[in-house]
Amino acid sequence: MKILVAEDDPVSRTILVRAVEKLGHECVAASDGEEAWEKYRKTPDLDVIISDWMMPGMDGAELCRRVRDDGREDYVHFIFLTALSDREHLLEGLEAGADDYLTKPLDRAELQVRLKSAARIRELYRNLEQKNAELEQLKDEFFRQARRDSLTGLGNRRRLEEDLELLQGQAERYGYSYCVALCDVDFFKSYNDHYGHPRGDRVLKTVARVLRESCRRGDAVYRYGGEEFLVVLPGQSLKSAALAAERMRAAVEGLAIPHEAREAPRVVTISAGVAPLPVGRRADVEEVLGAADSALYAAKRSGRNRVCVHGRGRDA
Ligand code: GH3
Ligand code: MG
Ligand code: MG
Ligand code: MG
Repeated sequence: MKILVAEDDPVSRTILVRAVEKLGHECVAASDGEEAWEKYRKTPDLDVIISDWMMPGMDGAELCRRVRDDGREDYVHFIFLTALSDREHLLEGLEAGADDYLTKPLDRAELQVRLKSAARIRELYRNLEQKNAELEQLKDEFFRQARRDSLTGLGNRRRLEEDLELLQGQAERYGYSYCVALCDVDFFKSYNDHYGHPRGDRVLKTVARVLRESCRRGDAVYRYGGEEFLVVLPGQSLKSAALAAERMRAAVEGLAIPHEAREAPRVVTISAGVAPLPVGRRADVEEVLGAADSALYAAKRSGRNRVCVHGRGRDA
């Protein structure tokens, strides 16, 4: 262990330091409370402090209180030195936050058992720390998994709702604008019926990848539901968002994934509905999504494999 020894009496200090080192520990020595405090602060990996009680300037009680109030994440085991007869200081020391005490004059056997006990506690503490870190990691992992669609690896509906909430807040506060594009695979039920569900899953994965690859940095793609994907395009005009959606539509068609169970072009395609956040007035997320949904509906009704813009009919 790394041990800080604070003792103003030079002879006692030397004896104590030697005894500690002889037990196989690394020792940092200080000749008063102030120096001990400085060294404590410069030694982040300290395990134990052994401090005399009576010292000029900052005494053992004050040092102990400071160490306890310091807020250091690591718990430092604090042992104070006091005369055997001095019951009052003993209580005061434990009250100030010390974990243990050693009587003066130094008894090496006692030092050894106190340090053994300290090592045990440090070990328990480190295990606890490690478990905590593992739990934190698991928590982060659960958090991420709960917001991710396992089939496509895209953000899921929950993630979308949280992100949109954030974006909406920024839109209101700073006047940022954004558009959304709701994309839906055309005739996907018949694809599943014809090729089977596993092949359908593969198509969804591929479409997800292509959507992600064809959007710009800052845009985000989510799996909205079954065969529906939502692309969020922050800071884009309706026109540039419509162009982006058209690029995505063309990219999916360009994959030329055979779909024999539909009419021409007999490949997998998507339709998309694009809607803006209304500028100049408050609008909620539902309203934007609703507008994208009606644009998508228009795209479906007018033949599929196309992009429609909210309030404008077919755009591309
Ligand atoms: P439209 O062109 O009007 O969009 O027709 P559609 O057949 O694509 O639409 P519909 O809503 O009738 O069918 C959607 C299909 O998507 C039905 C469902 O089985 C399928 N689907 C939803 N989620 C998944 C999935 O995770 N994997 C697979 N393979 N299919 C899915
Ligand atoms: Mg002293
Ligand atoms: Mg659908
Ligand atoms: Mg569909």
